[in-house]
Amino acid sequence: MNLDRSGDDQVLACGTPVGSLLALVADRAARRPDADSSTLARHVSGCAGCQRRLRELASGWEPVRREAAREVAVPPNLVEEALHGLATVRQRETSVEVVEAGGSIRVSRGALVLLVRQEVADFAAGTSTVGRPTVRVSADGVTVEVAARYGVRVPLAADALRRHLVASLDEHFGTAAPAVRVLVTDVLEP
Ligand SMILES: [Zn+2]
Repeated sequence: MNLDRSGDDQVLACGTPVGSLLALVADRAARRPDADSSTLARHVSGCAGCQRRLRELASGWEPVRREAAREVAVPPNLVEEALHGLATVRQRETSVEVVEAGGSIRVSRGALVLLVRQEVADFAAGTSTVGRPTVRVSADGVTVEVAARYGVRVPLAADALRRHLVASLDEHFGTAAPAVRVLVTDVLEP
């Protein structure tokens, strides 16, 4: 592989580094207003060697400039396609599929979390044994973390809550109800 970098660290007979000429070509191509007022530009205008090298560099630069100026057609439905793709991914990540004989429905994760949170609140209001629920929904089902009130027999309270949630999700989703896990992760003041 030829890694010759077009001699941009070469110096011309007049002492001008080729790299500076290349920078001048780029500045002119970009139409920088100060491109032609630099010391180098003034020298180049009176130096045949620099002008020759500048022409070579400019002609090498030309195809790049042409490509850069080319208008690339944007596919007409690019934005719609991208948004649709995003919506599909988002849907997959934030919903739970409930499959039943004859079809399936999708319940958004947010809706399931709200439902479970409400059920935990109902349960807590009736028993005063648990509180501060955190609800997580994953592919494995619903995980509820709660704090048990001090003095409560934790396994009993957790199991009672779990049975309450299983019953209510069964009511809503039938055989497709997600699994429920209850974790007691904290203790509430008595
Ligand atoms: Zn020169």
